[in-house]
Amino acid sequence: MAEMKTYTGGCHCGQVRYEATTDLAQVVTCNCSICHKLGSVLTFVPPEQFKSLSGADVVKSYQFNKKVINHLHCPTCGVESYATGKGPDGKPMYAVNLRCVDGVDLSTLKPFAYNGRDA
Ligand SMILES: [Zn+2]
Repeated sequence: MAEMKTYTGGCHCGQVRYEATTDLAQVVTCNCSICHKLGSVLTFVPPEQFKSLSGADVVKSYQFNKKVINHLHCPTCGVESYATGKGPDGKPMYAVNLRCVDGVDLSTLKPFAYNGRDA
C-alpha cells in the first residue's frame, strides 16, 4: 500500500490554502460537464484528512445538476482547488484537485477515468 502523506495545496493566488493527507491510491479523472471543462484530477479524502489553512470563509460555491457537490472556487483567481460533498456512503468527503496540490507529479499517476457524464 502506498504511503500516507500530507500535501499542501490551494488556488492560484494563494488565498485558498489547505492540507490533505492521502496515499494517492485512488486518483480519478471524470468526464462530467464540469470536470471536463476544469480538467480536474481528483482524489477523495474524508474530513479528518483535510484541513483548511485559509480561504474557507471566502470561497464561492457553485452547484448544478443535483446540487450535491459544492464546487468551491476562489473569488479572486477563480481556481477550484477543492470541492465538498458526500461519498456514496453518505458521509462527507472532500474532493481535492491534484492539479492544485504542491509537489504532485501528475505524470507518475494513473488516474481512473470515471464516466461521470453518464452517471
Ligand atoms: Zn485564488
